[in-house]
Amino acid sequence: MPELRKDPITGRWVIISTERGKRPSDFQVTSSKGKSGFCPFCPGNESTTPPEILSYREIGSVPNGPGWSLRVVPNKFPALQIEGDLDKTGEGLYDRMNGIGAHEVIIETPDHHMTLSNLPLKKIEDLFWAYRDRIVDLTKDPRFKYILIFKNEGEIAGATLEHGHSQLIALPIVPRQVLEEIDGARQYYAYKERCIFCDMIRQELNLKHRLIEENNHFIALSPYASRFPFETWVLPKRHSSNFEHCQTEDFESLAKMMKSVLSKIDKVLNIPPYNFMLHTCPVKNHTDEFYHWHVEIIPKLTRVAGFEWGSGFYINPTAPEEAASSLRKVDI
Ligand code: ZN
Ligand code: ZN
Repeated sequence: MPELRKDPITGRWVIISTERGKRPSDFQVTSSKGKSGFCPFCPGNESTTPPEILSYREIGSVPNGPGWSLRVVPNKFPALQIEGDLDKTGEGLYDRMNGIGAHEVIIETPDHHMTLSNLPLKKIEDLFWAYRDRIVDLTKDPRFKYILIFKNEGEIAGATLEHGHSQLIALPIVPRQVLEEIDGARQYYAYKERCIFCDMIRQELNLKHRLIEENNHFIALSPYASRFPFETWVLPKRHSSNFEHCQTEDFESLAKMMKSVLSKIDKVLNIPPYNFMLHTCPVKNHTDEFYHWHVEIIPKLTRVAGFEWGSGFYINPTAPEEAASSLRKVDI
């Protein structure tokens, strides 16, 4: 059983995922690509993944067989385990709980070589519907406090399989990084009675030099204090703390924005590895007025090293104004 342990000094939780049981020799850096050529996410290989939780498929096709356009399956090597109780306990000054959570894989397309930026708009919309469906379902489980959806694209960004997929982890705690954002937004709201994200959107739309793109319902910008070169945030223009409250027109607009922004990043940076994270509000948390859900996209261009680990500071060699300008100019 994996275990969650809390650092008593900083309050940061870590997952000790004993199931994955790696020995020192397992950490040698080797390329996982092209070893066998077998892909468990390709159509025809459905029986090699755990049984599907959700799929969008052709009428008449059967679950766990071909005929799907999107599949959600439990991660075969989960960081957290779905069954069991949290069993929160203390060991002297230390706090721990069982590593309970959901770890799911969203297989974005049956086409092994298709990237998210090249998927047809309708299929990208479907992907966001799948995220929403899974969040709505997992929110019913009283053990979960936060549901994080993220994507690792490319081996350097942490993807162990080439076939396009995103991941979902439902956690029994709210991660510190999300709490920091929520606390900052709460303080701003307490002082100004306005959402800081809404104010940021207004200002960036006005100034334009960190604006990458806007459409009916979404805006993409390079954040003022970007940690990484070409860090990009996609935010809904209409205030909303919950991603899962999106309507049909929001998903249409979001799909257009994500396709456009990812295509621009691909073009300017020559198809870089990247991560994106969906930051939405915690489960049953009252952040309605002051939190504003968004997607953070981070192309993997620099390495986090000693200075960053030691200080929590980031050295970003590309000014966000410069990044936004290059992304604005590119034709896709
Ligand atoms: Zn594949
Ligand atoms: Zn807002």
